[in-house]
Amino acid sequence: MPRIRSLPPELVNQIAAGEVIERPASVVKELVENSLDAGARRIEIDVEQGGARLIRVRDDGGGIDADDLPLAIASHATSKIASFDDLERVGTLGFRGEALPSIASVSRFALTSRARGADTAWRIEVDGGRARAPVPAQHPVGTNIEVRDLFYNLPARRKFLRAERTEFGHIEDLVRSIALARTTTEFRLGHNGKAVRILKAVESDVDRARRVADVLGEEFLGQSLEIEHSGAGLRLHGWVGLPTASRAQADQQYFHVNGRLVRDRLVAHAVRQAYADVLFHGRHSAFVLFLELDPALVDVNVHPAKHEVRFREGRLVHDFLYRSLDDALSGARAGASLKDAF
Ligand code: ADP
Ligand code: MG
Repeated sequence: MPRIRSLPPELVNQIAAGEVIERPASVVKELVENSLDAGARRIEIDVEQGGARLIRVRDDGGGIDADDLPLAIASHATSKIASFDDLERVGTLGFRGEALPSIASVSRFALTSRARGADTAWRIEVDGGRARAPVPAQHPVGTNIEVRDLFYNLPARRKFLRAERTEFGHIEDLVRSIALARTTTEFRLGHNGKAVRILKAVESDVDRARRVADVLGEEFLGQSLEIEHSGAGLRLHGWVGLPTASRAQADQQYFHVNGRLVRDRLVAHAVRQAYADVLFHGRHSAFVLFLELDPALVDVNVHPAKHEVRFREGRLVHDFLYRSLDDALSGARAGASLKDAF
């Protein structure tokens, strides 16, 4: 038998990247989430060739201290949690300290950042996991990350990338879903040098409808009900599409838990059940929903890509969702059965 050995750090990071970075949109997700965690009011995302050639995310957040630059790209290094207690109640989008080292191990990566209060910016470059020493650079307060030639050193992964249009579609989707949740930040998305989307920040969450209309269109807003329910420490708000807003595909379903877009079977089940009587077979509901609850009651450390959560009180959450949605839709149902009667 071969002896046991520790793997070189570059390989460890590439293995981690395999879990977190599936495609260019995963890189955008991690970088934008970092920008939001840094308090950015404005985030610019520019990609070339669907992200295969370049992904650049620029923000005006708090930046990174020059001394911390090497740590930012080291694995299991994070400024967001420090203890087990923190992990039990994560309030930021990130907490694993794995995204940057993973991305930097499978691309040509450059990070330029200037911390608030610092008089210069610093830049660090990493090529396929090999870092160079930081050098001084020009940049306003905030952070600029460039990811070039994603998977250039993992030919099997690179080959797996889909057509430019498909990859960019995933990026647009991702930006849409994040923008729905983070309305007071401005998002700009560009592809191959052209501005594709500019989503102006709204004043406060009270104007969230503005952002919803910007992202999903006025039609969606016109065919949905705004809801707001609280109880048992849970708060659900957002927009539930009426049957007239139903779609052939499940492509307008956004469910955020404490500001994080999640795909969850329990949530999906509660929603499906609530819509069961008002939708024709084969049609899909459209909704934008935000569930808020004590972070201690939801485990976000389920999957490296962080799009799954586990509720401590699943039954309670399920029933709360079902009842809130059923309540909202019962008006629509009354209308529907009236129609059936004629
Ligand atoms: P995590 O987000 O889980 O902490 P990352 O690998 O994504 O791990 O980032 C590592 C650290 O680098 C973060 O904890 C944060 O301190 C810093 N960082 C990354 N991106 C930014 C950014 N855009 N602005 C400010 N700090 C950042
Ligand atoms: Mg992160």
